[in-house]
Amino acid sequence: MRFDTVVIIDWSGGNDRGPTPVKDAIWACIAGQEPIYFRNRQLVEEWLIELFETELAAGRRVMAGFDFPFAYPAGFAKAATGSDDPLAMWAWLNDLIEDAPKSNNRFDIAGNLNAKFGGIGPFWGNGLAREIPHLPKKGGMRTNTDFPERRAVETHAKGSFTCWQLAGAGAVGSQVLMGLPVLHRLRERFKDTVSVWPFEAPLNQITFAEVWPSLFTGSVPDGMIKDAHQVKSTAEHLGNTDLADLLDVSAPIEGWILGVPQAKRPTPPLRNDCFAMPQGAYWTPVDDALAHLKSRLTVVTGTKEIALKKANGRILATDIAAQRAHPPTPNSAVDGYGFAGGAPVGEQVFSLVEGRSAAGQPYAGHVAKDQAIRVLTGAALPSGVDTVVLQEDVVIDGNLLRFHGPLKQGANARRAGEDMVVGQGIFDAGHKLRPVDLATLAATGIGEITVRKKLRVGILSTGDELAQAGRSARDDQIYDANRPMLRSVVRAWGHKAIDLGCAPDHREKLRQTVDAAALKCDVILTSGGASAGDEDHMSALLEGTGSFAIWRIAMKPGRPLALGIWNEIPVFGLPGNPVAALICALVFARPSLSLLAGGGWVEPQVFTLPAAFTKSKKAGRREYIRARVEDGKAIAFASEGSGRVSGLSWAEGLVEFGDDAETITPGDTVRFIPYASFGL
Ligand code: AMP
Ligand code: MG
Repeated sequence: MRFDTVVIIDWSGGNDRGPTPVKDAIWACIAGQEPIYFRNRQLVEEWLIELFETELAAGRRVMAGFDFPFAYPAGFAKAATGSDDPLAMWAWLNDLIEDAPKSNNRFDIAGNLNAKFGGIGPFWGNGLAREIPHLPKKGGMRTNTDFPERRAVETHAKGSFTCWQLAGAGAVGSQVLMGLPVLHRLRERFKDTVSVWPFEAPLNQITFAEVWPSLFTGSVPDGMIKDAHQVKSTAEHLGNTDLADLLDVSAPIEGWILGVPQAKRPTPPLRNDCFAMPQGAYWTPVDDALAHLKSRLTVVTGTKEIALKKANGRILATDIAAQRAHPPTPNSAVDGYGFAGGAPVGEQVFSLVEGRSAAGQPYAGHVAKDQAIRVLTGAALPSGVDTVVLQEDVVIDGNLLRFHGPLKQGANARRAGEDMVVGQGIFDAGHKLRPVDLATLAATGIGEITVRKKLRVGILSTGDELAQAGRSARDDQIYDANRPMLRSVVRAWGHKAIDLGCAPDHREKLRQTVDAAALKCDVILTSGGASAGDEDHMSALLEGTGSFAIWRIAMKPGRPLALGIWNEIPVFGLPGNPVAALICALVFARPSLSLLAGGGWVEPQVFTLPAAFTKSKKAGRREYIRARVEDGKAIAFASEGSGRVSGLSWAEGLVEFGDDAETITPGDTVRFIPYASFGL
């Protein structure tokens, strides 16, 4: 994608710099032309208006790159304006900022913003002589650490400054405060002809993008002002580049810098609406919820080659065929004597050939029609031999072998390829290797295979009431039981568990945790905070993504399941109660994670057993109860309370009741699913 006109603007947050071109002022350059100096923002705003009008009139497409962040680190816009929309932040700042060539109110606004968030920070660096309440001189003096220090893109842009720093050489904070209102006004003025990358698509006639000139510029020629050189070479570079690839990034609410590569996932990410499911007045049946997950989720993991001996529990990324026949040649299944053709009823006599065939030590010669030869288990059958008589059934008489027939031709011998022939399909892609499968693969000579990379599953507990086992806890606290359980569950399923710790009931802290997690996980399992209460921050957070769905599932235990996509990563919000958390994990997360990991949809193997308990349940929801097996019968845990963790340990699995009404009396058949059937 090429633009007819590329213009790059190096911004400044300060006051009028006078008529003579100087550094750290405003510089602009149109690709192919010379840099232009602007002594203040008012002048460059007018110049841009004129430029855009001319280009629009001429039908030319314009890329306008500005060298300051288009958005603040995640969470700030929402906290300040009530909306995550970065463009709402532009409008909001435009209402507050006063700007004139010789003075502006940026430090006071920053101080007011800090005051709004209750502490000192996030803004810092007062460039004025007078004190500004709530605006510390130094970054280290800040007490508000609610907001991330940097945007995700800045972790890729070496040497970039944070937008909280307002003063000091190179600081960009003032440029953001003073730049966004200008961009807002330009956007208002040129309305639908402007799109702001990467938040808005498709690209209209004028595109605003954030650039970072150091990305494209080398050393400054002698006698040239650095800013002038940078705008010129950036404009030239972008003017000569097909920008399609650079523009093709996912759009975090924090924005992005044009030209900073984004780590691309090996496979297309999930659709943002993959969890959207019509929720009627009724509860969603478990099977509908499962069918939805099954149809929307796809594999997200890459592949790698590994040695067979390390492959237990790994998921095959390709179909696998036998590389060699097994066994490769006919061989003996027993210790005994080999000859040709089997034997009829009655006394048999063969003359014994000298020599023998042992495993790994074949007999080189040919065995004639009336001859027999000593063979051992696993030995290749010598030429002329197709039948073996057990050594226990024979008498050796000098060099004669005697035994009683009948013996079928081929008895006690293994045919070449009787187990596997070359090229025979053994496993399909998606198969999860078990120890026995390693034997099968090794038997046909396969020493290396292509498997799926492990799915990285983040495990996060949420709740102000949670303390960590092994530490002291106040009376109003409970210990975090879910995290050690879910970590181990995820490992038992063969995934990589990434412990994300425990987040308090605090929206912004939770957001930071999930933001950071999304960079290192393929999927996140959270527990707690997933309903719609005041302290259900997980739901509230996901709600802002446009991908959020709360599924009211007709199942006991288990309150709603909260699902969403956070920065392209699926998030499963499990209930907080350990029993409900586990059962929702087994029923919904297990097959979903298996699909994401490349292992296909999995369903637990169910056994039917007579019940040794009584229970009646209503129609309209599925129920799982903790159960174990005694004397071949299923017995149920005394309490169905979903807070009773110990019942999970008492149990060996779950009894599953269907959606219909049921009355179970002792002796009735029930569906028992052992933990092992859930992969535990
Ligand atoms: P919530 O879904 O956050 O309302 O939590 C429901 C119940 O589960 C509350 O009683 C919580 O205290 C409890 N709970 C939440 N998370 C955990 C956890 N990680 N371990 C044990 N109990 C929890
Ligand atoms: Mg909670």
